[in-house]
Amino acid sequence: MSWRIDVAVQTPAHSALGDVLSYASGVRVTPGALVRVPLGRREVLGVAWAAHQEDAGPAAVELKPIGAVLDALAPLDEAWRDLVAFAARYYQRSLGEIALAALPPQLRDLSAVQLARRLKRKRSDSPPGGVSPCAVALSAEQTEALSRFEAEAGPFLLFGSTGSGKTEVYLRAVAALLAREPQAQALVMVPEINLTPQLEARFKERFGADSVVSLHSGMTNPQRLASWLAAHSGAARIVLGTRMAVFASMPALRLIVVDEEHDPSYKQQEGARYSARDLAVWRGRRESAKVILGSATPSLESWHQSRPAAGDDAGGRYVRLSMPSRIGTGALPRVRLVDMNLQPPKTVLSAALLDAIGQRIARGEQSMVFLNRRGYAPVLACADCGWKSECPHCSAYRVFHKIDRTLRCHHCGFTERVPRACPECGNLDIAPVGRGTERLEEHLGELFAAVRRPDGSAVRIARIDADSTRKQGALESQLAAVHSGEVDVLVGTQMIAKGHDFRRITLVAAINPDGALFSGDFRAPERLFSLLMQSAGRAGRDAAYVSAQGATAEMWIQTHHPQHPLFVALKRHDYPAFAQGELEDRAAAGMPPFAFQALLRADARTQEVAQAFLGAANAAADALAGSDQVTRYPAVPLAIQRVANVERAQMLLESASRAVLQRVLAGWQPLLHELRRTPEGKGVIRWLVDVDPHSI
Ligand code: ADP
Ligand code: ZN
Ligand code: ZN
Repeated sequence: MSWRIDVAVQTPAHSALGDVLSYASGVRVTPGALVRVPLGRREVLGVAWAAHQEDAGPAAVELKPIGAVLDALAPLDEAWRDLVAFAARYYQRSLGEIALAALPPQLRDLSAVQLARRLKRKRSDSPPGGVSPCAVALSAEQTEALSRFEAEAGPFLLFGSTGSGKTEVYLRAVAALLAREPQAQALVMVPEINLTPQLEARFKERFGADSVVSLHSGMTNPQRLASWLAAHSGAARIVLGTRMAVFASMPALRLIVVDEEHDPSYKQQEGARYSARDLAVWRGRRESAKVILGSATPSLESWHQSRPAAGDDAGGRYVRLSMPSRIGTGALPRVRLVDMNLQPPKTVLSAALLDAIGQRIARGEQSMVFLNRRGYAPVLACADCGWKSECPHCSAYRVFHKIDRTLRCHHCGFTERVPRACPECGNLDIAPVGRGTERLEEHLGELFAAVRRPDGSAVRIARIDADSTRKQGALESQLAAVHSGEVDVLVGTQMIAKGHDFRRITLVAAINPDGALFSGDFRAPERLFSLLMQSAGRAGRDAAYVSAQGATAEMWIQTHHPQHPLFVALKRHDYPAFAQGELEDRAAAGMPPFAFQALLRADARTQEVAQAFLGAANAAADALAGSDQVTRYPAVPLAIQRVANVERAQMLLESASRAVLQRVLAGWQPLLHELRRTPEGKGVIRWLVDVDPHSI
């Protein structure tokens, strides 16, 4: 008797090999089992997807024999395989690509014997200890949210202000689950690696260090494998992770939390471009696991999907749980708008803001100044001839970094020493234009150079951004310095705006947020609003401290458009008003969440070649059923059209029906593969489909 085993392997993206490869086996291999199979001249890891019994007699095709079965490991269960299959289908990728990317990298290199040995070692570990009781009494809003969570099926949108105690709600929901079902598992997702240490500590404190494992890209391969195995074997009760964790194998999954569900980092932007938030909701339904999406500024998609109040049938299918108040007597910070039209020209920091920061310094409080642009200056320019620090490989300027006197391209990485003189005309007087965090830090240092802290010492200014935190452990130590009070004024990018539970910050300032108001990206206002709300949420988190100081928590915004509805809503902390305005605009324009989008993108050496491919693809779509219900927009260059000497173009597809769009995309995929072999496809370096893209 012989078997044909279909195996998902990591084939190159968009290869014509299809979804699975077939191998011969003398015995049945359970679907979900990890196997090693020959592929070309190599042997690779694969996931057995289906087993078919072959009739005796000559096989139509001679199949290669399957390699070792990693049977020390329990097969990946059907729910997991369904998730992978759904993600592959929905996001137009191959099964193997999603399946293999979802497994820890180290699994690919371990032989069956090595794996068995490792598992044996693991199994001798003692099982985790119990849940530590929590001391805090829940607020009325937390109690109400939790009781509705227990009573209803969800999915839930936990709409809670910054500092309203959302994390405590997650902790209690997990605790209640484990009290009922000690062997159950919970998946808790967070947007960024840099937010996990604090949250991880809170979960470990509550549930014991052995019950909680992390999964994120900042871990070493052995750490990731260990966490993955603990989740897969059921030994770990709680998996805490970033977007990749949505694919963790968790046989007893009963609860999924997506914290800061609006965060753009839930969207994978490389390879298989999936939304971990959306997959979490799908997975929850498939596995009957309850899902909580939490945010102070939900994505407009989730907000639109949620029902306004208990018992209300209007709105979408998510149950909205609201927690508007901050814990304790803490008020949300007062929002102060500085009209920059009334400031002297070239003002960077208004006098009123400097005064407010100065007062905080005098009282020993901390301030945070936020500017979403790193480096010293975004451009270096020659006033004589007009030369600018363009990147020779990209349609973008190189950023001036004064610290090491370099011009660095933030798109392709191309770095050079700053020229002594203008490369075009020899003028010695080339000057930075505009301002990044590095320059802001320097500027603040100058402004407060003569100011003394209460103990007579100098003012301490620190900066946290992608540049300052490049070294392993740098972010942790810089955050620790802020927490322990070694910093008076913290300058940074959005990295400091999110999540951190700073206790002594009473002032947050956004000094130049206007760019996003008039951006070509229709999601920019939504992003800006949530970023500013998040930043505001860093101020006055410790109500007792604020009142003991006799301080008020404040969020300062410098803008040329103080009357803009976004700022008006922000001033009142009124996300619902902002969301309503945005949703009305989106509805009128037929944009998400009232329509569904996908992008086809092509990269080539020239813009013409990239666009010609998209044009041919557009023509090929005419024949597809349902294509008349999908609006196809003309091909255009990307906002940054050239990166590392590659020209990039894209075309947008939009439909009022998600199902129709999906059907058209599925029909299109094989046509696109064929197109690649025609003259129009020849010069294309790569193409990809992005479903539910985040920016267009
Ligand atoms: P969020 O996640 O909504 O921003 P957190 O859960 O981090 O808020 O809570 C903010 C702060 O309030 C944290 O320091 C947390 O320990 C504390 N906290 C949360 N719930 C309570 C409660 N019921 N009583 C006292 N303190 C609480
Ligand atoms: Zn010049
Ligand atoms: Zn570049």
